[in-house]
Amino acid sequence: MEKVIAVLEGDGIGPEIVRESLKALRAIEKKYGHRFTLTPAPFGAGAYFSEGSPFPEETKRICDESDVIIKGPVGLAVEQMSRIPPEHRPENGAILPLRKRYDTFANFRPVRLPKHLASFSPLKPEILGEGIDILMIRELVGGIYFGKKIEGRDADMRFSSDECTYTDEQIRRVAAVAFEEARKRSGRLTNVHKANVLATSRFWNQIVEEVASGFPDVAYRSMLVDNAAYQLVKDPSQFNGVMLLENMQGDILTDQAGGVIGSLGLMPSACIGTVKSYVEPAHGSAPDIAGRDIANPYSMIGSIALMLERCLNLAREASDVWNALFTVFEQGYTTADLSEGPNESRKLLSTSEFGDLVVEYIEKG
Ligand code: NAD
Repeated sequence: MEKVIAVLEGDGIGPEIVRESLKALRAIEKKYGHRFTLTPAPFGAGAYFSEGSPFPEETKRICDESDVIIKGPVGLAVEQMSRIPPEHRPENGAILPLRKRYDTFANFRPVRLPKHLASFSPLKPEILGEGIDILMIRELVGGIYFGKKIEGRDADMRFSSDECTYTDEQIRRVAAVAFEEARKRSGRLTNVHKANVLATSRFWNQIVEEVASGFPDVAYRSMLVDNAAYQLVKDPSQFNGVMLLENMQGDILTDQAGGVIGSLGLMPSACIGTVKSYVEPAHGSAPDIAGRDIANPYSMIGSIALMLERCLNLAREASDVWNALFTVFEQGYTTADLSEGPNESRKLLSTSEFGDLVVEYIEKG
């Protein structure tokens, strides 16, 4: 297969973990005789400082001309963000426009922690049960993040508002994707909402239930988001299967899921679009650990596996990457962000050592 791939390294730990993910991609390319032409392009806070825009025109052209996009995390430390004017900050100036440009409406975030790796989680092994295997599917181009934003002032007070809108079609298409996935997996789907307060959530549920009626073989239930946050910690494996979430609730609950399995560094993602798709880790640029070669590259290498599987239809290649990732942990290695069980003594890997081992296991696998 020949493909052109845009590579947006991003900020903070972005360049470090993207580098390791490209090593894995090159190993797959070599093993299977594919040809991936990788085109780097600036994106994020670094692009704002060097090019004057977090999503420069040249980067848009490179992305438009590519088959798929690999994106590292972007952003400065939250307290540094005031160095950039609000409209040029990476979320408003780069990530949301990227999602809108390619209509990447379905964000796949697998949350996986097999029973034998339970020590990575801050939860007790008995709470994790037989292990965690949840596919969180988050709507990515609607809701409050894309609504009109107002920061205003009238005669005697200041105010602000964020509009939250969902259309029938926006909900229907992501729900259909989620039910199809549930049908392929355990047949269980949990729909998360806040319908006791929000009109958009009541509408969301109405459309999701219409879609559910076409999937009688999927065990469907819905749950308020606040209870879902609680249940995710109390008894996470009850969600094994698919969780369907709207944009903002999904943003928050998927980070919590990262905490449940031990680290955001274990959270890859794929953003599937009608125009084009891209992959990125579910976390941010982790400025607190950037440049130290200690970030966990699983999230970015796992995003490559998702790209192979979901964007390029290369299931065998994807499975090689997943197997290599899990083999690293099964061989007794760890990264600095993951905890250790009381009777364990795992060998600590740097970011680049982790990437080297993944390449070795891809080659051997
Ligand atoms: P963050 O997700 O970057 O980090 C939260 C915590 O998780 C930190 O302690 C960090 O060290 C840790 N962490 C994250 N990824 C890790 C990895 N691969 N290995 C080990 N530890 C990891 O959240 P933040 O600090 O609130 O945000 C930093 C910047 O990232 C902000 O500018 C924010 O706006 C941006 N952000 C970008 C995206 C994106 O690019 N899609 C997503 C979320 C946040």
